[in-house]
Amino acid sequence: MGHRWEEEVRKVFAVGGPMARALAGFEPRAGQLRLASAWAESLARGEILVAESGTGSGKTLAYLVASVLSGRKTIVSTGTKTLQQQIVENDIPLVREALRAPFSCVVVKGRGNYLCRRRWKLFVAEPLFEFSREAGYYEGMCRFAGTTQTGDISECPGIPDDFHAWSEVNARSETCDASSCQETDRCFLTEIRRRAHAADLVVVNHHLYFADLAVRRKSEGSPDPAGKGGWVRGGEVLPAADAVIFDEAHGIEETASSFFGVSVSLARAQELFRDLKRAAAREEKAWRLIPSAAEAFRRAADALYRSVGSGDGRFFLPRPGTDRTFDRLSSELLRTGEELSRAVSATPVSLSLGGNDAGEAESLLRRVDSFVEDFASLHRAEPATAVVWGERRGNAVALQRTPVEVATLLADGLWSGGFPVLLTSATLSVSGTLSYFRERVGLAGVDAREMIVDNEFDFAGKALVYVPAGLPEPGDDAFPTSAAGEIAKILGLSGGGALILCTSYRTLGAMVAILRDVLPHPLLVQGDAPRMHLLRAFREDADAVLIGTGTFWEGIDVPGESLRCVVIDKLPFAPPTDPVVTARIQAVRDRGGDPFTEYQVPEAVLALRQGIGRLLRRSDDFGVIALLDHRVITRGYGSVFRENLPAMPWTRDRSAVSDFFLRFGMGRGSGGEERVR
Ligand code: SF4
Repeated sequence: MGHRWEEEVRKVFAVGGPMARALAGFEPRAGQLRLASAWAESLARGEILVAESGTGSGKTLAYLVASVLSGRKTIVSTGTKTLQQQIVENDIPLVREALRAPFSCVVVKGRGNYLCRRRWKLFVAEPLFEFSREAGYYEGMCRFAGTTQTGDISECPGIPDDFHAWSEVNARSETCDASSCQETDRCFLTEIRRRAHAADLVVVNHHLYFADLAVRRKSEGSPDPAGKGGWVRGGEVLPAADAVIFDEAHGIEETASSFFGVSVSLARAQELFRDLKRAAAREEKAWRLIPSAAEAFRRAADALYRSVGSGDGRFFLPRPGTDRTFDRLSSELLRTGEELSRAVSATPVSLSLGGNDAGEAESLLRRVDSFVEDFASLHRAEPATAVVWGERRGNAVALQRTPVEVATLLADGLWSGGFPVLLTSATLSVSGTLSYFRERVGLAGVDAREMIVDNEFDFAGKALVYVPAGLPEPGDDAFPTSAAGEIAKILGLSGGGALILCTSYRTLGAMVAILRDVLPHPLLVQGDAPRMHLLRAFREDADAVLIGTGTFWEGIDVPGESLRCVVIDKLPFAPPTDPVVTARIQAVRDRGGDPFTEYQVPEAVLALRQGIGRLLRRSDDFGVIALLDHRVITRGYGSVFRENLPAMPWTRDRSAVSDFFLRFGMGRGSGGEERVR
């Protein structure tokens, strides 16, 4: 203690204090006050604070109030859009009202969300749409480009999530050459950077935070030996700050892994080919060498990407020297890429092309070179520290190089103290300690304060875990059919209102194929519509059933009776055939550890806690968790999962589920009579 603001934080959350005056029904909560005070202290002392704080604990208000009162410029990074929206739309206005203090807050998104004025000018000169169905949006785009103050695509009405033409006009870094751009004074990126620089709070997501950090690392080499450089210095988009908060911090290992790695996709090669062809068509004489070199590059890329993987999913890429076809196709792609680079640099663009086109030529050359460099770097990966793999989804294929572990990368300079960082989430602890999380993100050997704020919700009185008896093992071929039959019976008792979380796309597909025919409730399926639309439909229809996998395990916040049942197909162990998971398992083994107890079980425990966390979102919520994997009871390791869930009743008897819903006035009785909600 000792700073004025630490005392003020206590007053804000006191009975009858400013928060109580701003928020109807506010009641002081011990956990919220503990977190706010601890973060105020960490801000004052320049400490790292790792804090698990459950849903409903009011953690966002706690850290925002402490940050604002400290006067320290703070970056708040979230894992999901849902939380970002909640912070900006609900929490910030509330903190303003409570503190009656003027402070500014800016949301900064990834560069790809903003319009690039230079590329827009080029596009308008020749508005070609790769997909003719998108041409109908041209007028709306023109109106947006002419009126927008921010250049943010989300302000362009009616544009679908998968709008391909946006990739031709957005401000992503590989297409931007600010040094030769004549639009920098009016550039939306310049403007958002300026606003972020002046703001007290900057709200971003983990993707942007780590993308920015990765750019800083690339341009600066290793982190500042003084230690704190990585956080303190400004990056490509983000400004320097005095403190950083990672909310939903359980996701930072995955995000950091993808941004400290390299991704080379077929789409990237195809876009490059398209843009080169268009540029060449505009200046035929000057660019005469380009079309044939670009065509050779495109053919080589197509051949290589067609040859890797089989069917949808992730796969290992062959190591150099282990697969002759892959080696030959790789060499061909590198050779044609290098020739293309020579052809572009030999073109006298600066003489023949003036104005914005000179910038375009520079940026095309950079894109060719960075593609070649990234592709070559896949082959240079050290097996002990990086895994090289690919992923195919339909026609989309991406090849990646991912660090096996990011702990050292993050610890190396970023966590070295003297700079306040808060890492918080509802799911960080395993078996009552934060050691597992700290180890994964490089905080094991670093001084950091810890706290665990207990869950505020009454799981014991308002939730029930049901593990059906008689279902086959999840790996059994008969499992999807039996599980779908069980789900239909459970939903008969709840009257719908369920979120079904699957652990793989395969199970999702199998379940949907059966449930579509048997459920009397509307079935909303991941992938059938954008996530936002599905969630809206789910919220609006209390009987609807939402089914998904992957990202649906987190960030879904549906309070009230629309979500009264969470069904989980099986314990969410990461598939051991996944290349990144395999490499991490091997890394634990190489250290002499037991990958199952030291990596696979803790990961699955955290994932299960995330999934279960979707059920109770408000103090008056109630519901059933149906866990269809009996291994949680029958296997020795099941006890780790059971101990890590909030204390609540468990049953294997479906009639207890029926009684539970009847107790809350929902669903049907065992005789089938409908109950009034
Ligand atoms: S500075 Fe970069 S992003 Fe901005 S308008 Fe110019 S090229 Fe586009």
